[in-house]
Amino acid sequence: MPLPFGSEREGNCRVGRPSWLRRWRLRDFSSEILPVTRPRLTKAFGGREFHGYAESMFFKRRRRRQLRAQPLPGEWRSIISRNVPFFDRLPPEDQRELLGHVQVFLAEKNFEGCGGLQLTDEIRVTIATQACLLLLHRRTDYYPRLVTILVYPSGFTVEEKRHLEGHIWSEGREGRLGETGRQMGSMVLAWDAAKSGPTDPSDGKNLVLHEFAHQLDFEDFAADGVPALGSHSDKLSWAGVMKMEFAALRAADETGIPTLLDTYGATNPAEFFAVATEAFFERPRALRRQHPRLYNELERFFRQDPALYSSELAPRR
Ligand SMILES: [Zn+2]
Repeated sequence: MPLPFGSEREGNCRVGRPSWLRRWRLRDFSSEILPVTRPRLTKAFGGREFHGYAESMFFKRRRRRQLRAQPLPGEWRSIISRNVPFFDRLPPEDQRELLGHVQVFLAEKNFEGCGGLQLTDEIRVTIATQACLLLLHRRTDYYPRLVTILVYPSGFTVEEKRHLEGHIWSEGREGRLGETGRQMGSMVLAWDAAKSGPTDPSDGKNLVLHEFAHQLDFEDFAADGVPALGSHSDKLSWAGVMKMEFAALRAADETGIPTLLDTYGATNPAEFFAVATEAFFERPRALRRQHPRLYNELERFFRQDPALYSSELAPRR
């Protein structure tokens, strides 16, 4: 695969254009655009590596600005209206921002059809629109740990080794609709579930939002249900609320009490965050009513209030 323009190797002139030109461009950029951070970064990365890093960031941001400004292919807009109903309820400025994110996402992520699935624009655009809902109103690097999205026609099976107790493990095949991991660099999705997720916006289930919430969780290099938060007080508040809500869901799961949140979230804190994200966007009014503190934490993190545009019709558990 060709190296992206401005990558570190290219900046070190092993490939590409004459070295004197590239060095000039790098020096010019790093002194003008990042005058404050340059000395610290130069010390941290070593001079030449920093130049490569800075140039890479500069061109990446410029390329993304250009992608966001491109006109959207006409067919994409009708795919979104047809398959992702929440889009038409968003405020116009959010729709514009989301469409820009979709352009960047589709330009940067690889999609592969698996199990005989032929990839189409409908598949790519439907998945990208849902994924990019989680990016609205925030600085984002577009799920930087994710490179490839593998799409199967429907559920798939994986070899699973599960710890039972002590030295006892069980092995077998397990059915899945989606999967991603901190060090996988990929995500696997079942197309039928990815497509049906947003069509009933009040069932509280959305495979794509679930799996991409995991990717947000990974951005701080851990899979612990704590995404990259802002201030120390944000982290303290998040920890207190999530600990309480997670314990409540576990207790409800053990006693069989019906819950708004899918009890799969009782598996561990990472799954709890993913399940809570599904509920936040799919059943926001019910979540705000029944779990106001959880709703507030998610509203602050996602910088969105989905209760404003939710299509929930009536209270239900
Ligand atoms: Zn999960």
